[in-house]
Amino acid sequence: MERFANFINGADAPPKGDAFLDNVEPATGRVIGAVPDSGAEDVDAAVQAARRAFPVWARTPAAERSRLLLRLADLVERDLESLARDESIDNGKPIALARRMDIPRAAANLRFFATAILHTMEESCTTDAAVQAASGGRTALNYVRRDPIGVVAAISPWNLPLYLFTWKVAPALACGNTVVAKPSELTPVTATRLMTLVHEAGFPPGVFNLIHGAGARAGQALIEHPEVDAITFTGGTVTGATIARTAAPMFKKLSLELGGKNPTLVFGDADLNDAIEANVRSAFLNQGEICLCGSRIFVDASIYEEFLAGFITRVKALTLGDPLTESTEQGALVSRSHRDKVLKAIDRAQEEGGTIECGGYAPAPEELPERVRGGFFVCPTIISGLNASCATNQEEIFGPVVTVQPFAREAEAVQAANSVRYGLSASVWTRDLSRAHRVAAAIEAGTVWVNGWLVRDLRVPFGGMKDSGVGREGGAEALRFFTEPKTICITVDQADNNPTR
Ligand code: NAD
Repeated sequence: MERFANFINGADAPPKGDAFLDNVEPATGRVIGAVPDSGAEDVDAAVQAARRAFPVWARTPAAERSRLLLRLADLVERDLESLARDESIDNGKPIALARRMDIPRAAANLRFFATAILHTMEESCTTDAAVQAASGGRTALNYVRRDPIGVVAAISPWNLPLYLFTWKVAPALACGNTVVAKPSELTPVTATRLMTLVHEAGFPPGVFNLIHGAGARAGQALIEHPEVDAITFTGGTVTGATIARTAAPMFKKLSLELGGKNPTLVFGDADLNDAIEANVRSAFLNQGEICLCGSRIFVDASIYEEFLAGFITRVKALTLGDPLTESTEQGALVSRSHRDKVLKAIDRAQEEGGTIECGGYAPAPEELPERVRGGFFVCPTIISGLNASCATNQEEIFGPVVTVQPFAREAEAVQAANSVRYGLSASVWTRDLSRAHRVAAAIEAGTVWVNGWLVRDLRVPFGGMKDSGVGREGGAEALRFFTEPKTICITVDQADNNPTR
């Protein structure tokens, strides 16, 4: 059984209290490792290391920061196969998915921000004398420096462990901040492996530190540490509210990527086969444990029956099984308690009058391959017959559960789509160009896909409206978040009245 350590000031650091949490393999239910149950003392050591490393890292040329991040990306790619295996074992996701999506995206995140910082320019503008009565007719040149903020706390969830971990730390480091990162206690493995690669890549000690542990203990100690200047968080909305309550009175810069209850709107003129195929992915990829998964499908009544029949057929054909088997399409949910929460949500849907069209249960052990009979599986579940306002359609389930409901008019579909407190993403299926623009504009979400899902260009803003978050990640938005702007205004005396010159 593997025993993990924190990574502080360039070296492994066991937790000071010698306390550990079990790390459980979701597909088997077996304990496979021990994760440091870090406390405030461990967090303080990591933050102090980051604080000490900050002045030199902040002044390190962008080209050198870029070189180290590119080297790290190369090492992630070199170890792609073992990282994909680790991610699959630790999270329960199919290994084919980890190999195709999670690990390549982690390398892409590092590479994207490593090169982005080589192509940025600071802003400047000249103030027109005519509009500046107070300046006595003088003009001024304004330019904006963008300096690193200081020590950044990066807190990530369990669903896309290395993918979301690197999405936060790459821009923070690229901009010249030092980092203390805390992965989810449920999926500590690939972040730990990454620190070995950070060491191999040659990052200076203290620039990139890792703290393991429970959210309420290590996570809370990290966000309330007075030497942490900014917090980037991805996780649940309730946790986000706790973090905001802690950080706001301390005036820390804060970015929150939170939960979702994303709608999919399928109009009568959509390419039905495309829409069905895409919905199988958008509802069930990664067992539905992606914040961007569409969990409420609204279908034009004119094609509802046809859509539902085709969708059920395709979902029933998904292969559920051992995540380490190449052909597996549906793996295990991340933990026993999460599996139980999803099953409870299915029970509630039935109490609310929903009809289970397929799935709706945890497979019996004898339905599973021998190795994974103790695992936390739920069959992909489609539920019909519910209205948009019931709890099933209002609260995030974050598992392989989707509802399908017919609509008669466009306005009704948009209203139902917007009727939740979340606003992360949406997808719209139609071949009518005007409708695509109209509906995309009307939907309250940070990202709207038209005739697609999960097409992610790393340059565009990413984040949620309403209770799905505060701020945006991605591209220039991330570079702005991880820097502190300072405006410098220089008076320029253009009218030269000095005759001696
Ligand atoms: P979570 O909120 O339980 O935990 C996320 C992280 O926060 C973990 O590392 C946890 O240890 C830490 N944490 C918990 N309490 C804390 C505290 N008081 N202080 C500091 N840190 C604390 O979320 P989860 O269950 O790991 O992830 C699932 C949730 O994440 C879902 O709601 C999902 O929608 C959301 N999510 C959002 C996005 C997005 O980009 N918007 C992406 C992925 C997941």
